[in-house]
Amino acid sequence: MSLVLLPERFLRRGEDAARRLPALAVDEDAAGDIRNIAEGAFAPLKGFLSGTDYRRVVDHMRLDSGAPWTIPISLDVPESRRRELARRSKILLESATGVPLAVLEVEDIYKVRPARDIPAVYGTGDLRHPGAAKESRRSLYRIGGAVTAFAGGGARAGRADLTVNDARRRIFKSGWRTVVGFQTRNAPHRAHEYLQRTALELHDSLFIHPLVGWKKADDLTPRAVIESYETLIRRFYPQERVLFGVLRTAMRYAGPREAVFHALIRKNYGCTHFIIGRDHAGVGGFYGRYAAHELSRSFSGLGIEILRMSGPHYCRRCGQIVTERTCPHGAGAALEVSGTQVRGMLNRGRRPPEKYMRKEIADVLLRLSRTGQAFCGERR
Ligand SMILES: [Zn+2]
Repeated sequence: MSLVLLPERFLRRGEDAARRLPALAVDEDAAGDIRNIAEGAFAPLKGFLSGTDYRRVVDHMRLDSGAPWTIPISLDVPESRRRELARRSKILLESATGVPLAVLEVEDIYKVRPARDIPAVYGTGDLRHPGAAKESRRSLYRIGGAVTAFAGGGARAGRADLTVNDARRRIFKSGWRTVVGFQTRNAPHRAHEYLQRTALELHDSLFIHPLVGWKKADDLTPRAVIESYETLIRRFYPQERVLFGVLRTAMRYAGPREAVFHALIRKNYGCTHFIIGRDHAGVGGFYGRYAAHELSRSFSGLGIEILRMSGPHYCRRCGQIVTERTCPHGAGAALEVSGTQVRGMLNRGRRPPEKYMRKEIADVLLRLSRTGQAFCGERR
């Protein structure tokens, strides 16, 4: 693979002048997306979607240019400020605590239609869906335009942070011809490991890239996900063939559309392949088990090869991790452990069954659970 770096959008000069622009405070999700746009993780986006792009993405899963894009990346503007900001050509985006993050070149301010747009993106308007519920609380007005970020604003200092171009340099230096991207929001259990080892059998390398932005309260904290993966990689994986880093963006739980979005992001990080498993980015039975496989298959021009894999589980009769493609025993013989059960066990200080999760991983989660640092809802 040749070393191709993606263009970055960082402010090189004129910071003082930028700080005198009218400011719009943005939330943590938008701050993460500013970094993702600036680093190229959301390429070909150069900023927050304009009204035209927003409409095309919601209705047709493509940008106005025709490029595939399935999740609208848009920036809220309070109704009280829309007239004032619409007259500006540039505004400053800052964090809730007043840290300058980026300059936005105002393209337009537009109104969204949640009653139509939420079901289009999430497949449901049901407010028991965490992504739909969160979307329904946003402003009806959005501001579109290119962003250029302050290099230091909201800098990524965590040891698991890896920029798009750093990932591309690592891939190039390692000489890997194929790199399989793996999305997760969870700590690794045996089924994940099965998918990851299958990828390592067939390809040069594996990029484990957990999503650590906003998640629902009963999902694991970034720290729990990062520390458990570091343990798995250090103790059980061929480290010279595994790349690890985190993706700082919100979980949308948008199922099939989010699966394609996740694939496009990993293409930007330099992956040649991406795993879409059972109910990818799904939640609470809102999507068909393999709806994400079907949607990804219907796309042309994704630019990354999708590995559509069945959901693995432990089969009591086979005595190992299997999928419905390798085992004839069906659901009756499966050891099913739900996320809720795992959480209950950890809260009671018990390890989940080792056939489900390695004890070394369970111990990381138990340690964090004792101080309330394992799950998002109890984050301190
Ligand atoms: Zn079996």
